[in-house]
Amino acid sequence: MTYFPTNPRNRMKIVISSLGPRNTVSLRARLTEPRRGLAPLIEITCSRVFNNFYNELGRHCQGVSAPSLRVADWRKNDMRRNKRLDDGMKRRDFLTGSTLVVTGTLLGSAGPTLAQQDPASAGPADARLIEDLIAANRILAREGVVDAFGHVSVRHDRDPNRYLLSRSLAPALVTPDDVIEYDLDSNPVNANNRPQYSERFIHGEIYKARPEVKAVVHNHSPSVILFGVSTVPLRPVFHIAAFIGKGLPIFDIRKAAGMTDMLVSNPDRGRALTQILASNVAVLMRGHGAAVVGASLPLAVGRSVYLEQNARIQAQAIGLGGGVTYLDPEEARKVMEAGENRSYERAWELWKLRALEK
Ligand code: MN
Repeated sequence: MTYFPTNPRNRMKIVISSLGPRNTVSLRARLTEPRRGLAPLIEITCSRVFNNFYNELGRHCQGVSAPSLRVADWRKNDMRRNKRLDDGMKRRDFLTGSTLVVTGTLLGSAGPTLAQQDPASAGPADARLIEDLIAANRILAREGVVDAFGHVSVRHDRDPNRYLLSRSLAPALVTPDDVIEYDLDSNPVNANNRPQYSERFIHGEIYKARPEVKAVVHNHSPSVILFGVSTVPLRPVFHIAAFIGKGLPIFDIRKAAGMTDMLVSNPDRGRALTQILASNVAVLMRGHGAAVVGASLPLAVGRSVYLEQNARIQAQAIGLGGGVTYLDPEEARKVMEAGENRSYERAWELWKLRALEK
């Protein structure tokens, strides 16, 4: 979905659609251009604190298009209206079905009038690639790397500027019908109003920065979280986890974006994560999980599985109380040069068979 703002008097219509749990409110907003009609709705869920609404709105719009909304101006110009809405939000009866029109200033020069344009599709992906993506989702769930949360994507086989990722769904439940195609800004080609993973920017920004990467896993695998929060560095304890090498970087979202909800839910945070990942095979995320990449789905999935195993074994080895001997970086390098576990082909054959059997 892309918005092409034109004249600075464009208006944004905000419809308060429902109150959510825990102090959140769901809003639907659309840009209106009086002569050319309405742009599609954008859905926003945010805190009832109104400043957060603006942040969410700005973040959302940056996520979908290059010319972003000048949120700060609204805040200044519409303070009185904001106050009224903010007051209104405290009264449930005010909310249902109520509508508010806010006049905002949009960035961008004259161009095509307000219009919606999804990115073009690269066409249908290879059926075997989709099958592998479904298998990857289920394998990660079976192997305890993801549970209800976490996701895996693959770069489109026809177009390196597209990637494939499930709609927002527990990975164990993903079917081919759930797969959404995205451009590298993480704009959906064919979302059709299906809910999307808020952290899809992890995938898009990594694909943008790392052309050789063909698959990305984001997970919260429990033992890996240990090493994102501890000063004890993750090190390879056995040969299969040699890809850990000299260790992995840790992304601390607080350093990149201050106090947040911990989610990599916009392009800026995705880029910050990608910078810390640099040329590594994985990046730990402090207080969150990890992002793991590979030149194929078996590589990204295999590394995710053995990253969790290594972290668990390392923690247990440290718990024994004696000294721990890690793989020497030179040993790790030699394992990698010998062809990193034969690209996990044997494991993949087994895992896929198990994952796809009824
Ligand atoms: Mn996450």
